[in-house]
Amino acid sequence: MIIREQVPLSSLTTMRVGGPARFVAQCENEADIQEAIAFAHERAIPFMVLGGGSNLLASDSGYEGVVIQMRMEGIRIEDEGETVLLIADAGTSWDAFVREAAAQGLWGIENLAGIPGTVGAAPVQNIGAYGMEVAQTLAYVDVLDTKTSEVTRIANEDCGFEYRESRFKHDPTLVILRVAFRLARLGKPQTSYADLERYMADGHELATPLEIGDAVRAIRAKKFPDLSTHGTAGSFFKNPVISSAEYEVLKEQYPDMPTYTAYNGIKIPLAFVLDRILGLRGHREGNVHLFENQPLVLVAGEGATAKEIHAFANSIVKKVFDATRIKIEREVRSV
Ligand code: NAP
Repeated sequence: MIIREQVPLSSLTTMRVGGPARFVAQCENEADIQEAIAFAHERAIPFMVLGGGSNLLASDSGYEGVVIQMRMEGIRIEDEGETVLLIADAGTSWDAFVREAAAQGLWGIENLAGIPGTVGAAPVQNIGAYGMEVAQTLAYVDVLDTKTSEVTRIANEDCGFEYRESRFKHDPTLVILRVAFRLARLGKPQTSYADLERYMADGHELATPLEIGDAVRAIRAKKFPDLSTHGTAGSFFKNPVISSAEYEVLKEQYPDMPTYTAYNGIKIPLAFVLDRILGLRGHREGNVHLFENQPLVLVAGEGATAKEIHAFANSIVKKVFDATRIKIEREVRSV
């Protein structure tokens, strides 16, 4: 295992912000992870797991602990007849995994194409897009329970999945090692979202997981900033889910606001609130702005600091609350 010292977190996160991590342990296998955790325990410092760094806002003062860089990679197939278990190590690129499923003609995660990050990070926030989410096809997660040093298998129903939520988000003692998805050999396209409907109306055929994956990547490329040219962590906020009582009040004020049913309430597209109600598309404060094509996405320009980003995000939260009484939450995690 390679351990590096004083590594800028700005070099490990797509937001490209953050001071130095005291130690970064490159972990290629389970033994490396155990070793990195023991290393942290010996020094009585904390540890955290980092996948693609695409959903993280790192602090300007850095991290006084061990960053476990999850680099376990690999995909394996277990045939079950009509279904297939597709199993990937936690450090495998999520999009590479989606491509592999599509190449095998398997259905169930094709609408999740193009989401940055790793397979291990996918269940943490139950990533979802275009009417599909990880919780629908995930079979189990193998975790290293760092309290007992044992590897345990957690079945889907015990993952605590909700909209962009899971138990893993709230329990840093569980290190995700691998994730298994139960995918179908036969399936049908889920193209109910407006973006996909428009894409089909433009003459594209969306009949196979490969075609759908490519379509979703093309749509996302137009809507979301390119990580190679912009400092960003994608959607910075979650689309809020409110109660029907709260919605009744808002409907009076904004009758044309779109709504969708969610796990436990009514989902509001935050982009509508930011753009159409608050006029904040492209809104800029100093080095930070909301992306023009998708105002849910916060972009950190050259020289932006975490402090500046927190202040900017808080000001957006306040603006939304003042206008709608909705308390929006961040999707991006902070360290
Ligand atoms: P969008 O398609 O413009 O949708 C905006 C909001 O409206 C989302 O909350 C979406 O729900 C909801 N919505 C739209 N059409 C819907 C329908 N037919 N049925 C139910 N709900 C509907 O979203 P976008 O910002 O351009 O992003 C594209 C997709 O990528 C969305 O599904 C978004 O959630 C997803 N995304 C996910 C992540 C993540 O997992 N971290 C990050 C960025 C974007 P849903 O959120 O349930 O889709």
